[in-house]
Order: sequence, then C-alpha cells, then structure tokens
Amino acid sequence: MRIAVIGAGIIGVNVALALQARGAEVTVFDRSAPGQGASFGNAGCFAFSEVTPIAMPGLVWSVPGMLADPHGPLAIRWSYLPRLAPWLAAFLKAGRPGEVARISDALTALCSRAKETYAPLLAASGAEALVRREGALFIFRNRKALEAELPEWEMKRARGIAIEEIGPERLREMEPALSPEYTCAFHVPDWHHTVNPEAIVTTLAAHLRAQGGRIRRAEVDRIEMKGEGPQLKPAGAPAESFDRIVIACGAHSLKLCAPLGYRPLLDTERGYNLTLPDPQVSLTRPVCVMDKGYFMTPMEMGLRVGGGVELGGLAAPPNWDRPERMVAHAETVVPGLNREGGRQWMGFRPSMPDSLPVIGRMPGQDKLLVAFGHGHMGLTLGAITGRLLAEIAFDVAPCIDPAPYDPARFT
Ligand SMILES: Cc1cc2nc3c(=O)[nH]c(=O)nc-3n(C[C@H](O)[C@H](O)[C@H](O)COP(=O)(O)OP(=O)(O)OC[C@H]3O[C@@H](n4cnc5c(N)ncnc54)[C@H](O)[C@@H]3O)c2cc1C
Repeated sequence: MRIAVIGAGIIGVNVALALQARGAEVTVFDRSAPGQGASFGNAGCFAFSEVTPIAMPGLVWSVPGMLADPHGPLAIRWSYLPRLAPWLAAFLKAGRPGEVARISDALTALCSRAKETYAPLLAASGAEALVRREGALFIFRNRKALEAELPEWEMKRARGIAIEEIGPERLREMEPALSPEYTCAFHVPDWHHTVNPEAIVTTLAAHLRAQGGRIRRAEVDRIEMKGEGPQLKPAGAPAESFDRIVIACGAHSLKLCAPLGYRPLLDTERGYNLTLPDPQVSLTRPVCVMDKGYFMTPMEMGLRVGGGVELGGLAAPPNWDRPERMVAHAETVVPGLNREGGRQWMGFRPSMPDSLPVIGRMPGQDKLLVAFGHGHMGLTLGAITGRLLAEIAFDVAPCIDPAPYDPARFT
C-alpha cells in the first residue's frame, strides 16, 4: 500500500512508522521540517498516569477563580467565545461523573500500552538517549490543598497508577531546589520525560527515512476523492494519488477535513512556556506547581517553565505575558532561578472536548484516516496511536477497542 501521512509532528511520524512496520510505502508531507508544531516545545512528559480527562466534575465552579487570577492556569480570548461555544458545551458535558468514568477507562486503555509500544521504537531509533526515567512530582503548599485533589488521584489509583504521597522531608530530599513553602506532593514514579521533545520527533523521523520512508516538505492544500484513490494536492506541485491518506495535522487538521464534509469539534488549547538556558538551579524531574498549573521540566537546553491553557483559537497573536507570569511565579518556587535569556514559545494543543483523540477512518471514507486531537497527551500517546491507526488501516484486530476514539463522535 502507498500511504501518505500529512503532518510530521509526534503523531504523524509515529503513524508513519507503524504503517511502515506493516509493509506500507510511506510518504510524510509537512509544510515545515519534522517536529516544528505543538510537538516542538511541549513539556516533554511521557505522562503515563494521566488517565483522567481535563473536564472533571466540579471544574466549572473553579473556572471563575482561575480566570480572575492573572497567574492562573486558564485564560479565554472573549472574542473567540462564540466560535468556541459548541466545543465548550461538549467539554462541560464530558465532565459529568458517568462520562468521566467512561473517558478515564478509554484513556487508561491507551496509557497502559503507551510505554511498551514506545520502547522498541525509542531503542531502534536511538531516541532512547533523550529519555529520562525519574518520575514526576505534583507539589502543593499544604496538606489541605493536596487533599482537595484527592478524588481525582484516587481515580487514577483505582486504574492501577502507582502514586505516592510525600511530605516535606522526602520532597526536599528529591528536589533540594524547591522552596520550603511547598510542603507535600504526589510522586508518580512511572513518568518519563525527554530532555528534547523536538529531537524525539526528528530522531524518529530520521529512523523512518533510514528504513525507506520519504518526508516531503510541502503544505497540502486539499484532498480529493478520485476513482483511482484519494489524491492530495501539495502547494505548487501536481496532485498525487495514494492508496490511503492519513490526516495528522494536529490543531490544523480541520483545514483538510472540513472540505470533505468532516467537521469534528476540534479546537485548540494554547499553551506557553519559557526555556531558561542558564537557570542556576537544578531539578531532576518534571515538577508540576499545582496551585498555578504549570510544569518545570529539566531539559538539555535549560529549564522549561510553562503550561496552562488559553482558549483563543489558531489566529489570535500570542500573549507573552502568560509565560512571563509563570516564570515570575516559578522564581518563588525555586529561589535563585535565573530567567535571563529565556526563549518564548507558544504551541497549539489539538483538543477534543472529551480529552480523547480521534483515531480511525474518516466517517463515510474508506481510504482516508485521521489521527489528531491528542490535547495534553500527544507525546505520551504517539506510539500507541500509530499502532492503533495502522491496525485499523490494515484491517487487523486492534490491540484495544477503538470505539472511544471514533472519528464520528462530535460531528
Ligand atoms: C505547552 C504545552 C505543553 C505540552 N506538554 C506535553 C507533555 O508534557 N506531554 C505530552 O504528551 N503532550 C504535551 N503537550 C501536547 C503535545 O505537544 C501535543 O498533543 C502534540 O504535540 C500534538 O502532536 P501532533 O503531531 O498531533 O501535532 P503537531 O506537532 O502540531 O504536528 C502537526 C504538523 O502538521 C503540519 N501541518 C499542518 N497542516 C498542514 C498542511 N495543510 N500541510 C502540511 N503539513 C501540515 C504542521 O506543520 C505540524 O508539523 C503539550 C502541549 C503544549 C502546547
């Protein structure tokens, strides 16, 4: 089978590798070099424990407080609200208790296979050298704040995630740079992190090429269904036919899907960070500052500080105050932090309202497949997404029930 994959982010590259492993002749198209989209500057966490959705019961009551806090984890561009409304309504529905249990089961199915699916790819490609296995810490100022989060963490525990509650001494022992203002934490030993998310993608892409895959730098303008198979039209080049085409363009996927009549409720949760090249403090593992909802991840290019969610679509210009405020707060969490020379970055998380990706055939299309909508979890779920998509494309029994990731939901 000749298969085109559009998008060379962490998802497209993993999909291409999985299709190649099943014998497909794969060409990946991207308007940029591999790994320049959301996959470029994320927090680098293989967050294998994140089996609960973003919309949790009760979240709605904390939204006004989050929006009012300029250092808070959530912001909305109010001019974008009318366009966001259907997504937001579906997001709130996904936060009902019954839905949360269903979604958590679906996330558990992906997460529980994510690590074992990545392992051979990371080893064979050499990307293993970019991965650290130090777990992660979710830190709180006091026990009361930690206890407020317990229901969600109990839900994770009930799904088999190892979680340790630790007090001030152990916390200081693990991360001496943290301010004593933070007195307790959840420690999740089974997180991994990469010291360079972009390099994970480029290394996997090089592996794809080394095995005969092609990567072409071209924007794809449109896809058309022709008798001889689906065609894609790269900008400035003639249309090309393939046996199958996979759309893996992250938050930008609607541009190619909508003209074919497929309009899922995909939107973007914008996230920001600053990477501090000479932080003068050292952390061993990703640390999530729970009262403000951002991460600090030690990377080979410095300490990456950021996260948060801004709902504002793809077109609005960045608001660089957001990561600056996170770093100003981080200066109180890791005293002595040097922010000089920090590099700003904004990324578009491709997000579905129910925190689950879409993986499978485009509704009504046999030869078009989609893999996007991974939200906060694209790096974590790259390999398992590739595997599942390839199983669907080749009509072999899928390793997990693909129904929860059905592309036809929310259309
Ligand atoms: C601040 C932040 C922190 C995050 N932290 C984590 C984390 O710690 N762990 C985790 O698992 N996830 C994290 N994420 C989420 C993760 O980064 C995304 O889920 C993931 O990168 C999505 O990958 P993707 O391949 O779908 O999209 P992208 O990486 O955006 O790739 C899509 C590609 O498609 C290309 N493209 C788009 N349209 C076209 C077209 N028409 N023609 C050709 N090419 C096209 C783009 O150029 C791009 O390269 C974070 C995200 C953000 C913003």
